[in-house]
Parts: sequence; C-alpha cells; structure tokens
Amino acid sequence: MSFVETNQERCQNCGGVKEFDAVVSAIVCRNCGGRRAVERKAAKRQSLEVAIRGQAQDKKWTSEVEVMRCNSCGATEIFRKGNISDVCPFCHSVHIDRPDEGKGNPPGGIIPFKISREQAFEAIDKKVKSNKWASRAFKDTFRVDTIKGLYTPVYCFDSKVEGGYSARVGETFQVRKNINGQWHTVNEVRWRTVNGRVNQVFEDILIEAGNKVSTYTLRELEPYNVKGALAFDISFLKGFSASCATKEIQQGFNQAKAVMDGRIRELIKRLNNAALIQDIQINVRHNNTQFKYLLMPIYVATFNHKGKAQNLFVNGESGKVVGRLPKGSKKVAGAIIGGALLAAAGVLIYLFASGILG
Ligand SMILES: [Zn+2]
Ligand SMILES: [Zn+2]
Repeated sequence: MSFVETNQERCQNCGGVKEFDAVVSAIVCRNCGGRRAVERKAAKRQSLEVAIRGQAQDKKWTSEVEVMRCNSCGATEIFRKGNISDVCPFCHSVHIDRPDEGKGNPPGGIIPFKISREQAFEAIDKKVKSNKWASRAFKDTFRVDTIKGLYTPVYCFDSKVEGGYSARVGETFQVRKNINGQWHTVNEVRWRTVNGRVNQVFEDILIEAGNKVSTYTLRELEPYNVKGALAFDISFLKGFSASCATKEIQQGFNQAKAVMDGRIRELIKRLNNAALIQDIQINVRHNNTQFKYLLMPIYVATFNHKGKAQNLFVNGESGKVVGRLPKGSKKVAGAIIGGALLAAAGVLIYLFASGILG
C-alpha cells in the first residue's frame, strides 16, 4: 500500500510538485528542479515557569494545518491544509477522522530531515540482508513506498539543579568465615552514611511529547543534533507529516526530572566511590529551567506481520535503524530449540539479541 503524497506545494514556474528535499535542505521542484531556501534560524528556548503559568505567547496552529486521527491505532498527525493523508502511517488503516481540535501549539523548533526516503530504505535493507533470522517473506515484499517521513514531537529540557543529598553507600569486601566447621570466603557490605551538595547543569534531556513513538525507541534512535535545531517553519513539513504533542509540558518535565534524578544518583555513587547505594534522599531545586518543543525527523516503515501492523524506525538525520524485524517462523522455532539446549551456556540471550536490530 502506498501513501498519498502529503504536504505538497505546486511550483509557480511549471506546476510541478515542490517538497522539502532532505539531502540539499531546500524546497525543490521535482519537475524543473527550481529551488527555494528555507530560512534557518536557531530554535528558541522557552521558560518552563512561564509556559506552566500559561503566559507563553500561544500562537495557535489554526488555519494553516489540519489534524488526522487514526481510529485504529490512535495516531494523531498534523498536515498542511489540503494535504491530509488518507492512510495512517503507523498501521495503514483508512479509518481516519479529521477532528477540529487537538492541534495544540506549533513547535518552537525542528531538526530537518537530512537523509532521503530512499536512503532510509537502503539503511533498512542493509540491516535486513545482514540479519539471518529475518523473515524471507518480509525480505521479499519490503518496499520503499511502505516508508514515510514523519516528524515526531519531543520536549528538550535544560535545567540548573542545586541542593543537597543524603544516602547510604556501600562497598563490598571479602572475609573468611568458619561456617559449621568449614572455612568459606564470604562477601560482605560495609555501609556508611554520606551527604553533600548537588550543583549540576543538565542540557538537552529529551522526552517524547507524542503518543506514537516510545521513550525506548527515542533513546535507541538518539543521538540527534539537538544543538543544531532550527526555528520551526512550516516549509520543512512539505512532503512530510508531523505528529502532535499530546503530553502536557508539566508531565514532560516530571519525566525529565526522573531522568535527572537517575543521573544525580550515578553522580553520588561516583563522588563517593561507591558500588552500592540505598536510602537516597535528593532534595534539589530546579533553577532557570528552559525547554524547546521540537520536531524530530523519523522514517517509519510499516509492515504487516502475522496480521498485525508493525513498525521499524530510522533516524532521519543519521540513518540509524531501530525496531524488531519480523522473524521467519521456521528459523524462530530452530532458534528456540537450539537455545533451550544451550541455555546453560548463556547462548539463548545471544540468539535473541542477534535477532534484534539496533
Ligand atoms: Zn517547477
Ligand atoms: Zn493507525
């Protein structure tokens, strides 16, 4: 199944279709080759405090875009007016609604696509060919027109963190002990209480803001050149579509705080030379927290496997491929039987890992 072309513009010279060309980073007419540059300014940060108080200048995305909602999988996408897709890019369903609401605010920045759809196809094809567990049927039927360029929304946080912590940190050591008349070497932990100050600047903590690409997938797709994000211009969407942010900024920040707490925890372990940590109390203030609402370039390949729509993802900047390939059923059975025999040697894990892309 192929997609209808989305977000197109007609060339004034020849009437041809103009699209954002990822490789040359300009709007290009497919017919006459006429080019137009897109203005490139750096993406702006916003203050979190101002955004949460609702005082940000809300220029709503109104007349220039339309929203598509998929009744099968829940995907919500933005299109330039008049260019809406009839087919869901995630599940190929044609059960599409066009709700009036749900556009939210336009993003503050965008990381434009750098590789073409054909290059994304080649990246997947290379992975498929080198993966001996991949389904033969998938190898034979996978085509470039099952791939769609999609901008997915993320929040990107910067925060200055100050405060204190206390924790119990432990180091392990070995002792000889006499147990029931026999000498054994036993591991024991020596715990001590530590406390100190935290003074840390975090930058570019990425949290997904939509509902169709998981945090896990986003982490796998990283890195992106977040520092090079450009101010949003709707021209970048020509030939692509974009998912809407469905997450409130406060909810996104709560997730970002959890990520930062995890990093602080690792920092405390390092500072105290500790192998183990428990009873950790982190009491910090976030100062001058800023965020960018960005669109990230992802190619989504959608295919049917055993009656279910599945996706592979490609980083639209670097060509990195993420997701599980469908496995051939005979090969899977062989892997499981072989794995059971060799499980004691830990080979099972290797067999499963070798079937996973990334
Ligand atoms: Zn033209
Ligand atoms: Zn769908």
